[in-house]
Amino acid sequence: MAIQWFPGHMHLTKKTISERIKEIDVVIELLDARLPGSSANPMLAELTGSKPALKVLNKQDLADPARTAVWLEHYNALPATRAIELDASETAPARRLIKACHELAPLRGGMTKPMRVLICGIPNVGKSTLINTLIGKRSAKTGDEAGVTKAEQRISLADDFYLYDTPGMLWPRIIVAKSGYNLAASGAIGRNAFEEEEVALELLDYLIKNYPEAITSRYKVELPPGITDEQLLEEIGRKRGAVLTKGRVNLQKAAEIVIYEFRAATLGRITLETPAEFAKGLAEGQVL
Ligand code: GDP
Repeated sequence: MAIQWFPGHMHLTKKTISERIKEIDVVIELLDARLPGSSANPMLAELTGSKPALKVLNKQDLADPARTAVWLEHYNALPATRAIELDASETAPARRLIKACHELAPLRGGMTKPMRVLICGIPNVGKSTLINTLIGKRSAKTGDEAGVTKAEQRISLADDFYLYDTPGMLWPRIIVAKSGYNLAASGAIGRNAFEEEEVALELLDYLIKNYPEAITSRYKVELPPGITDEQLLEEIGRKRGAVLTKGRVNLQKAAEIVIYEFRAATLGRITLETPAEFAKGLAEGQVL
């Protein structure tokens, strides 16, 4: 069963973004480097039209560096688009952000034409963390589950550089079944909106094909040809002692372990989609 999630109304966000966008020179979209395609909201592209776009692949410390390079190349080839990678350990990312924005809107800058930038991203992508870093404080609330809201704000990164936080919440809009699973695995979707077992099975299916060494080294299991995701989840549960009475495996517990260890990158640095795979998903009509 595909994951669908409608946690809140988007039309207010849509309205406020479309009003705000007129006075915006560059739109920064924060993406999760482990699932850049799935963590984008297609509505944003519709609303921002031909405005220059800076894609920030955040949480790059958790993602597969080789694939991050492929995604950066993909975005940098798009018109009026730049892409950079980032993670929360970078203590002074402002300079790189400012530089990329000036490349995208070279005519803006100076006191009479300050750069006006809108920063957007689906919940849990790391927007509060980045904004806190940019303003140099750690007090604003960040959360590890989706849905921590915050007041709208304008941040001055330089005398002639204003960063506006998105008005309203930009929820993910899931249009491909695989994206729903990837968003759930990453922590971007409320935990009541999906079955852990189903998400873990999808994740394992992808890992068997793309990151087999992550599985074998973490769980000390064999991956014989043809092993199914169900068999693997059971094996992992057994190895990790997630066992019920009569030796039955607690699949729920096993699923939670796999999802948790993916999120924490205990499984290694993993990216769940390539630009080609994401495009193929869209083209093949897996669209919900
Ligand atoms: P927001 O909902 O977009 O504002 O996301 P938050 O800033 O609250 O971050 C969500 C979670 O991701 C928090 O647990 C952060 O500590 C974590 N996080 C944010 N940025 C990064 C990053 O670059 N790398 C890693 N590993 N974790 C991050």
